[in-house]
Amino acid sequence: QEAYLPMDLKSLIRDIPDFPKPGIVFRDITPLLRHPEGLRYTVDLLAQTCKQAGLTPDYVVGIESRGFIFGPPLAYQLGAGFIPVRKPGKLPSAVHTIEYELEYGMDCLEVHQDAFDSGCRILIADDLIATGGTAAATAKLVQKIGCELVGFSFIIELRDLQGRQKLPDAPIVTLVEY
Ligand code: AMP
Repeated sequence: QEAYLPMDLKSLIRDIPDFPKPGIVFRDITPLLRHPEGLRYTVDLLAQTCKQAGLTPDYVVGIESRGFIFGPPLAYQLGAGFIPVRKPGKLPSAVHTIEYELEYGMDCLEVHQDAFDSGCRILIADDLIATGGTAAATAKLVQKIGCELVGFSFIIELRDLQGRQKLPDAPIVTLVEY
């Protein structure tokens, strides 16, 4: 692993007010993704922080859509496989359904039933934790089907929303806080 000078990741995350609806400040990671050193630094720091926290998953479970950007390179660096959690109707084989609450109503995600070997060790990855609803619902499914939840990784945490309080007791790796 190369040594780097620390980078200011926040300077590569763009704030877009009132997107996708009024009152939400969208944390846009596309400037970070298109920045060669920023991208490499973020993936390496994420992997290094997971390793230091003792997280040794068999699989990284990434949540559509932005969990598909950092999940696979993180899995690669941790020597793990990658399992996609997808929006309904996208996965071709038999699925487990993950239901979670939105501000108004429910939404759901799906994951292949045969993706999990019994007792396998799972790290859940997404770009950002807001209310924690999506990650908590994914964690619940992982635990219900008898897998071991080793932890969570996010690039960004929105602290005011207290999403981490919704998550089960497991290490949480985050790189940037708002
Ligand atoms: P939550 O279930 O509330 O923790 O929402 C997490 C999901 O919504 C993640 O996949 C994020 O990518 C997305 N998300 C929520 N709030 C924001 C925000 N302010 N900026 C960018 N993405 C967000």
